[in-house]
Amino acid sequence: MLVKPDAVRRGLLGEIISRFERKGLVIEAMELRTMDAALADEHYADHVEKAFYPPLKEFMTSGPLAALVLSGDQVIEVVRAMIGSTDGRKAAAGTIRGDLSLSNRENLVHASDSPESAARELSLWFPKL
Ligand code: ADP
Ligand code: MG
Repeated sequence: MLVKPDAVRRGLLGEIISRFERKGLVIEAMELRTMDAALADEHYADHVEKAFYPPLKEFMTSGPLAALVLSGDQVIEVVRAMIGSTDGRKAAAGTIRGDLSLSNRENLVHASDSPESAARELSLWFPKL
């Protein structure tokens, strides 16, 4: 998962990581880095042709983000439930986006949505793991 640049800028990195820790998930790896254009295009390969992609790319490369590898029982489903739906204005209260974001783009977090996307994103972000 990624804690996006808006979260880092807003000082929410600790709050967000703390939610995953309190849930009982384990942080296996973590890195603070700034995404470059090439990594953005690979990471969002499914979205590069969409109208929302250029401003998304601008945003995602705008400053440091945190990339985390989390583990735990049913981790993909659990994390997706904890982050909430994409649009922060519509995400359920109690979720990270529902509690802390008011934006469809600057929605604080990214999380892999299937074992296949997790494996693909893991190899992009943590090629040595
Ligand atoms: P999610 O991150 O919930 O899996 P998507 O994979 O559909 O959502 O989209 C990837 C990211 O692109 C979103 O997290 C959000 O930052 C951005 N995004 C998606 N849809 C829109 C949109 N309609 N307008 C602006 N940004 C969007
Ligand atoms: Mg997605």
